[in-house]
Amino acid sequence: MRFLGALSEHGKGGAALIGAPFDGTASYRAGARFGPAAIREASSSLETYSPFLDASLDDYDYIDLGDLELPPGSAGRTIDFVADSIRDILKRGMKPLLIGGEHTVSLGAAKALLEVHPNLTFLQLDAHTDLRDEYLEERFSHATVIRRLMDTIPADRIIRFGIRSGTREELVGSGLELPLGLEGGQRDVERVMRQLPAKGPIYVTIDLDVFDPSLVPGVGNPEPFGITYREFIQIARILSRLNVVGADVVELAPHYDSSGVSSVVAASVVRELFLVLLTSRS
Ligand code: MN
Ligand code: MN
Repeated sequence: MRFLGALSEHGKGGAALIGAPFDGTASYRAGARFGPAAIREASSSLETYSPFLDASLDDYDYIDLGDLELPPGSAGRTIDFVADSIRDILKRGMKPLLIGGEHTVSLGAAKALLEVHPNLTFLQLDAHTDLRDEYLEERFSHATVIRRLMDTIPADRIIRFGIRSGTREELVGSGLELPLGLEGGQRDVERVMRQLPAKGPIYVTIDLDVFDPSLVPGVGNPEPFGITYREFIQIARILSRLNVVGADVVELAPHYDSSGVSSVVAASVVRELFLVLLTSRS
């Protein structure tokens, strides 16, 4: 099964989806390995046209390359496999859209993208800072993703939104906009998004626990006080005017939501990100 009418053949240009069904370091509750399949299945309930971005997938080349075969339990090798697959997509002149899997898989995409765009800026949408240096003696884990990124690039090239869980040191006086202003809404979004470069390349990583658990309960580490879909759409509309070169959607653990709504929201997020990649200038 492929995502929402996507082809499987490599085209030229356009964007390519690839799944990384890995949840080897999940600390609280596992199940993100089932994310890619659930996103594809839920996508069959969606239209290819987004009224929010006034754009349709039908007008672009977008493909679904299926899932990577990953070594269970090995985060390091998984990151290498993901990096190889993203390099392959980039070589063909396509923009990558990675679906997880736990957040750790983003490091593979980041590695490959930084080889092509050394000045890449990251936008992290997440409830958590993911800034631990190690977690349960693992240096590569869903809880250390952004710390590992900071080993490679300066902190001011990682813009974050929706963060509301971390240690005091991580959250207070870190220069983070925290938490999402109590009033929520567009002003917070605009203030944060203004920090993104107007022309420079941007990578977007969306940990689905950034959404409020009333909307997306099917994640490994749900946190109250998350963003709404309205705020996500405001973000997507701003991104479509910037230079987005790659994206990922991670941490869907569909079996914790028997209603299936989490998977539908995740598939909708993937559709909007596909359209952001396909329409944004680069
Ligand atoms: Mn998170
Ligand atoms: Mn995360």
